[in-house]
Amino acid sequence: MTAIIINGKEIAETVRNEWKQRAAVLKEKGILPGLAVIIVGDDPASKVYVRNKVAACHQVGLHSEVHDFPEDVSEELVLKRINNLNDNPDIHGILVQLPLPAHINIDKILETISVKKDVDGFHLHNMGALVSGKSIFPPCTPYGVQCLLEHLNIPIAGQNAVIIGRSDIVGKPMALMLLNKHATVSICTSKTRDLKLYTSLADILVVAAGRPGLVTADMVKQGSVVIDVGLTRLDDGRLVGDVDYEAVKEVAGHITPVPGGVGPMTITMLVANTVQAAERTNDINC
Ligand code: NAD
Repeated sequence: MTAIIINGKEIAETVRNEWKQRAAVLKEKGILPGLAVIIVGDDPASKVYVRNKVAACHQVGLHSEVHDFPEDVSEELVLKRINNLNDNPDIHGILVQLPLPAHINIDKILETISVKKDVDGFHLHNMGALVSGKSIFPPCTPYGVQCLLEHLNIPIAGQNAVIIGRSDIVGKPMALMLLNKHATVSICTSKTRDLKLYTSLADILVVAAGRPGLVTADMVKQGSVVIDVGLTRLDDGRLVGDVDYEAVKEVAGHITPVPGGVGPMTITMLVANTVQAAERTNDINC
């Protein structure tokens, strides 16, 4: 059996077009959804991510602006800018590109972003909303995975879902989203004693560890859905996931490639959250 390859790039394009139409409805009413991205320092990877986010906004017809700060900027100045953006009616979404330099308190920064503009979904209030099943802004990467599964009509309710990784931005929210959709969810971490015991039961396996080659074919259930969130740049420049793709695609029923799987969906869901923020601010239900 060879798995169906999930073409994240193609699905992201389709989903982006749907959000483009919703943004067009807002524009007809004179509302231009706007995203502000704050970036601190010169990390090359962060710069690429920010560039891609801005490009996605333009593709969908949103306003976007980048607020660039030097590495040694004071925390106070960044907080002040966030507060200004919170009060700016033309900005519906605010995100701070992570990581931040060590002298800046990430929690303080994330908690200062208005809950109504927190399009990354990292504010404690938004995390809590997700726990209670009343999510406001689902974090973009797990939201993208959920969107992929729904787009492909892959059943979630009643399925065994196993998540590898328990980070606040991927693993935990992913587990909650699948739980909210009535999957039976297990979360595995670096401390899990027998990873294969769990993965071999998974109908849906989401891997977000940042460990290339972690998931091998013998760990995967025949016909299962394998979503590889991992993204690591090897010394030779190649971008790889956490799954032994060539071998696992002979066992799985569906599989995402890296690159071209989850990545394009993450940015698409940022666009979705920004458009939804603008709709909510203006009491428009689509
Ligand atoms: P993280 O480092 O915060 O968390 C990694 C998690 O994996 C931890 O909970 C850890 O316990 C677990 N883990 C590590 N080694 C393990 C092992 N051997 N067995 C089981 N669990 C193990 O990372 P993160 O921010 O959640 O990101 C995870 C990966 O996803 C990274 O490669 C990152 O680059 C990628 N990522 C991709 C996207 C995207 O859009 N494609 C977005 C976010 C993160």
